[in-house]
Amino acid sequence: MATLDRLGRRLGNLRVSVTDRCNLRCAYCMPERDYVWLPRKDILDFEEIGRLSDVFAGLGVDRIRLTGGEPLVRHDLPTLVRLLAGKPWLRDLAMTTNGVLLADHVEALKDAGLHRVTVSLDTLRPERFRELARFDELPRVLRGIEAAAAARFPLKLDTVVIRGVNDDEIVALLERAKAWGAEIRFIEYMDVGGATHWSRERVVSREGILRAIGDTYGPVEPLEEQGSAPAERFRLTDGTVFGVIASTTAPFCAACDRSRLTADGLWYLCLYAAQGIDLRRPLREGASAEQLRALITGAWTFRADRGAEERLGLRERSPLLRAGDLKKDPHLEMHTRGG
Ligand code: SAM
Repeated sequence: MATLDRLGRRLGNLRVSVTDRCNLRCAYCMPERDYVWLPRKDILDFEEIGRLSDVFAGLGVDRIRLTGGEPLVRHDLPTLVRLLAGKPWLRDLAMTTNGVLLADHVEALKDAGLHRVTVSLDTLRPERFRELARFDELPRVLRGIEAAAAARFPLKLDTVVIRGVNDDEIVALLERAKAWGAEIRFIEYMDVGGATHWSRERVVSREGILRAIGDTYGPVEPLEEQGSAPAERFRLTDGTVFGVIASTTAPFCAACDRSRLTADGLWYLCLYAAQGIDLRRPLREGASAEQLRALITGAWTFRADRGAEERLGLRERSPLLRAGDLKKDPHLEMHTRGG
């Protein structure tokens, strides 16, 4: 059963953040020294996530992506994977990870029924990684990717391209992705959440990314596809497929079927939304599935968010939020909403 919002977009893809904690401090996401964390007592347990997922499924959700924070710092994540993978309605169960802990968990995740894995990888240079993510973890990330490839997980890589930081590695990353049998997606630097150092000048646009690739490989052919996936996909003459996620210069709001559940049970209808809908409280106060369903339906059918498109319309564009705003409400953070 499809639940449509005011712009005719279906409720389809749920991104479940399982923790706001992360073991990296990427400059475009978590640049501050200190953070306000979600209270532990508020974090949904696996059974609560499972119950909410069932309610969402009754309204049309059939794809779940586990994210965070870093999902693999959540204790015993494979148990949640097993619980969700067993749901008869689930068509796609993916996880986005920074890869640091992936090699340690890859077998358990496979065994638990995870369908596919996306690893964030912005550079292949150890010193650059350390500067960008504040931890010297590139070797473990690479081991994680290799372990996931060896375990035959369908594999994607996500690269945020930032001018003057890693825009000289686009081709090297594409080559490495090919060698791993992974599809790489280049993401435009977004001005959301913790990106308090964002500036327009540092965004490498879809055109810039395609130019860098075309200069090396020659003609790049766009793939004709329809759907809600944020990446536009392209093919090189040797058959290699890659994606570009142009969330900043050419947002995909018109086809956006995704919503986000934070680790403490707030539901966000747009990555840019100022406020979420509290599902934890009714859940813990004993609301029935029918009552939760009514709450979710009411919110989704009223949804008209086009956060990224509205940002695009601004003449002056600077970071969406300041560090002070984020401290007052950690739910505004990308690492809380799950990117
Ligand atoms: N820790 C996991 C990881 O690193 O993939 C999952 C959470 S992370 C917030 C999810 C995705 O958001 C990552 O691919 C990350 O690169 C992306 N992201 C975070 N801040 C971003 C920004 N300012 N612009 C574009 N992408 C961003």
